[in-house]
Amino acid sequence: MSPLPAGSVIGILGGGQLGRMIGSAAARLGFDVHIYAPDDSPPAARVAALHWQGTYDDRDTLRQFAESCDVITYEFENIPVETVEFLVSLGATVRPSAKSLETSQDRLTEKRFLNEIGIETGAYEAVDTVSDLETALEALGARGILKTRREGYDGKGQVRLKTRDDLAAAFDAIGAVPAILEAFVPFEREISVVIARDADGNMAAFDPSMNDHSGGILRTSIAPSGLSDTIIAKAVSMGETLARETGHIGVLALELFVLEDGTLLANEFAPRVHNSGHWTPEGCLTGQFEQHVRAVAGWPLGPVTRVFDVEMQNLLGEEALAPPESFGADAVVTLYGKRDAKPGRKMGHVVRRTGRA
Ligand code: AMP
Repeated sequence: MSPLPAGSVIGILGGGQLGRMIGSAAARLGFDVHIYAPDDSPPAARVAALHWQGTYDDRDTLRQFAESCDVITYEFENIPVETVEFLVSLGATVRPSAKSLETSQDRLTEKRFLNEIGIETGAYEAVDTVSDLETALEALGARGILKTRREGYDGKGQVRLKTRDDLAAAFDAIGAVPAILEAFVPFEREISVVIARDADGNMAAFDPSMNDHSGGILRTSIAPSGLSDTIIAKAVSMGETLARETGHIGVLALELFVLEDGTLLANEFAPRVHNSGHWTPEGCLTGQFEQHVRAVAGWPLGPVTRVFDVEMQNLLGEEALAPPESFGADAVVTLYGKRDAKPGRKMGHVVRRTGRA
């Protein structure tokens, strides 16, 4: 596919805040954006040229959407793989491909894939029954985190376990569905590599940020991460391996645990722009959303030089209802336009430039 000229239509599967921010970046580059999402008036659709409302198996609406778009991308990883395959079967160009999606949708497949391409993870065991869980907990040193294989996010579908806990109740609590038990990783800090790969295979990684989670939800991302150049280079190289091996076109994010001795263990990856990269539009010459649009549109990547030290803070639930000026004169506020400020829900974020890089 040759580079798309301004005025072309970029379709986005999914209507959340990531789609909204990709869509805004695409609009700034002169593209029209069509959102495909089942919900009524989702955040992304309210800044887009058109909203195709349909479920992910609604073939008639998907067909019309495909016909209206010059390229299609996705903004969340739980889009059914069949939906992407169907769009491709109609002749649509979907970037990134179904491979990135399929691999990251299932924690077991994902960890096996990472290990196969030489990216180390913490120890883990597949768990399909309570008896598997007992054996796995024993094998992993009497402590672990039970996670559903599919559809967990922001700490949902996860339980921390110790040997004496009621394992049957824990398995029930995650819905008694196929799961994995992960060894508890005693990390010193968490970082992420947000990296873009273009259609010609060129790659550009943002400076990895240090990420702080609470209750499984990202609270803050800080760049620079404070890590040595050696560790940063190693992290970036892991991100490059992943982007290359999935044949990814677009942005992806690899979340890593950093151990006291500098060892890097992968936690998971997202085949899309990422919350821990929300500081990049304010901190770098090109932000992650524009970078993603450039890659999927067949444009060359922009420069990722970080020009500011930054701190990004997520606004959860009612935190986002505070008057914007209360975040301080130096705060760049982004609100997602979600109508219901439920506790823990990601409603917006604030970026503060704390110095020149
Ligand atoms: P996840 O949904 O897998 O990204 O997990 C959310 C957060 O929970 C991570 O960013 C970590 O802070 C914590 N966490 C997840 N898995 C582990 C693990 N195996 N060991 C220690 N902490 C973990």
